[in-house]
Parts: sequence; structure tokens; C-alpha cells
Amino acid sequence: MPKIDPDRVMGDLRRLAEFGKYKTGVHRPTYSSDDMAARHWLAGRMADAGLEPEIDGIGNVIGRGKGRGPCVLTGSHTESQNYAGWLDGPLGVIYGLEAARAIGADPAFAGAVVDVGSWADEEGHFGHFMGSRSFCGELAETEIDTAADRTRGTKMRDALASAGLAGRPRARLDPKRYVAYLEAHIEQGDWLEANGLRIGIVTSIVGIWQFKINFEGVQNHAGTTRMAIRKDAGVALTRFCCEIERRFPEIAGSRSVWTTGRITLEPGDPSVIPGRAEMLFQIRDADPEVLQRMERGLFELAAAADEAGPCRVSVEALRKSTPAMMSERVQAAIETAAARHVPGRYVRMPSGAGHDAQIFATHMPAGMLFVPSIGGISHHWSEDTKEEDIIAGAQVFTDAVAALLRS
Ligand SMILES: [Zn+2]
Repeated sequence: MPKIDPDRVMGDLRRLAEFGKYKTGVHRPTYSSDDMAARHWLAGRMADAGLEPEIDGIGNVIGRGKGRGPCVLTGSHTESQNYAGWLDGPLGVIYGLEAARAIGADPAFAGAVVDVGSWADEEGHFGHFMGSRSFCGELAETEIDTAADRTRGTKMRDALASAGLAGRPRARLDPKRYVAYLEAHIEQGDWLEANGLRIGIVTSIVGIWQFKINFEGVQNHAGTTRMAIRKDAGVALTRFCCEIERRFPEIAGSRSVWTTGRITLEPGDPSVIPGRAEMLFQIRDADPEVLQRMERGLFELAAAADEAGPCRVSVEALRKSTPAMMSERVQAAIETAAARHVPGRYVRMPSGAGHDAQIFATHMPAGMLFVPSIGGISHHWSEDTKEEDIIAGAQVFTDAVAALLRS
């Protein structure tokens, strides 16, 4: 099997972490000057590896191999969340690059091809999965026209123009070219570490369902309105949160998660009883039936609260993504490689986070591999993974790509 070069993997990851360095992590939001510098550096590394690099009209960096044989597509992303970690994204891109280099140097794999992609804006500064959806033909021009940076408010068209990408064509996937898509990522949770495991083989990527729950009361004076006659939308909302915490453990799956991520009280003044309240609520699970059960439970709780009064309660579904199943053949390839390099220390598991692989999964057999995150920390500058785990993961990844090229 092709051998990776551990120093080359670590060297590239550390070099990439210099772009937008922040404490021990990086601040590299999509299309920022640091992000673009990292993309150009990556294109150069692809060329050094014998790939033909392209930076397309949405910022995807795609390195295509030159052989005529079977081809595996690899990749992840290189932009970061704001003030976040150095491995979230880059790990998968550099693993793909190393697989291309190691396999390209192995005469037993002459003609086989590994393509590498850095899919733009996986972190969702401007939308969701803009780069991979663009590559897969799922992103309309009109969506780019209306998208804006969620932190800075910059219009996506303006950001693309200042990044030097305006007018460039957007690259499109040729599904006939590929036998599979493989992506590596840090776990971003603590399941692997807590169980002394070193590789996670992703079985599916969770569906994420988002809801807005509205509470309608009566706004009034906080000093003169007797408690008995109040219709306080804020109190209705907090009661509802407690009801969710009571009911959901009874109906959720063993790995389901649910989160109230934002609460708004109107008018939001200490001397005014809130007349309106709103919460954004999200559920995640890999099983569509469990998601449906939780959704039904949410609507039942809302109907009961609405009936009990004194405030009106209604639920609005905002966005529902379908869970993505990972290909059994790709999982088997990762498992065989993991058994070779980290015997007894790997596990099949669902991904609780969204990844570009879920976009590719509807176009070709797709799979993902996880390496442990120290303390389960991610989306924070202190995010890290042990060097020995990074190196073992790179070899398992390359073996799995090689096996898919042979199958
Ligand atoms: Zn990521």
C-alpha cells in the first residue's frame, strides 16, 4: 500500500495554520485576504504534487490528477469559523493532497487518479455548503445574488469581487469521472477520545431540522400590571423550554440532540412585560423517523401550551435537511484500513455535524473518516488533535482511497 510522509502532512497543516493565525488557531473567514492567500498557497501545493489546480468562480480550489485510470475525489474546506481551530477543514484537504502524492508515487498505482477539493464556505459565512453545492450543480446564481456574510454583512457578490473571483466560471462535477468521494475531518465531539478510539467510520450525517416557535402575549407595564392578569410571552417561552427538556428524552433517539440556540423577547426592556417572544430550536438525528417523531412531539407540546394559555403558541418549520447515508463500500474500505493500522481502536458512528460529504452523497458513493478531537473541542481556537492521531488518520485515509481505486 502507498506510504504517507508524516513530516509532509504535518508541515503542510502547520503552514496552512499560518494564514490568519489566531492564538493556537486561525481566523480565516471565507474570502478574507487570509483565506484567499491560503487558497492560492494550496493551489501551489497541488501543482507541486503534480495535480492541475484551478480556483473557480466560487472559490473552490480543485486539483485534478492527470492519469486516465479510476479516480477518487477527496476534499474538505480551508476557511474557518471566526477565531476557530486549525484542523477543522484543513485536515481533510491535506489528507486528500497526501493521498494524491503517496498514491501518485507508488508504481503499483500507475494511472490511478486522486482529485482534491477545498470546497468554499462550508462553514456557512454566506450560506450553507455554497462551494460543494456549486460544484454539484445545486446552487443558483440568484442565491449568490442575495447571500451576505452573516457576521460582517458584506454581500457575497462584493466579497467574490474583492477576492478576485468575479466573472470566473464555476467548476462542475463530472460524476462519470469518480468512483467515490472520501472526506476526513476531526470528530468535533469527544466520543472517540472518551472511548480510547482513534478512527471513526461515519455511517451517516445527521439531518438538521430547524424551527421558530412564536409566543404571543400582551405587552404591558412591569410595575402596575398585577401578576394574576399578565400574559407574559417570556414566561410562556421559558415554560415551553422546560416542557421540551421533560418530554424529549422520552421520544428522542439515543444520539438525538436538541438545542434552543436563540431567544428573543420583545420589546426586550426590563420595565416592560414581553408581549412577544420567539425561540429558534434545532433537532439533529441520523434517522428520519426519529426526526419526525421529535417534530410531532414539538407540535403537540406547542398545541398543549397554546390551549393552556394565557399566551398563544405556534411553531414554524424553517429548514429540514435530509440525513445522508454513507456508502457501505466506502465504509468497508475505511474499516479494512483502520483494522490494519489501529487494530481494535475504530468504530462506526454517525456524524452529528454537517459536512460537504452529505452534498456529494447524492451524486456518488461517499464516505467520511474521523480522527479524535482533544477534549471534544471544536469551533474554538484551542481545538487540537494529537500528532500521532493525525498521522495514523492520514495513513488510514490513503489506504482507503487506494482500496477504492482498486475496487
Ligand atoms: Zn469542518
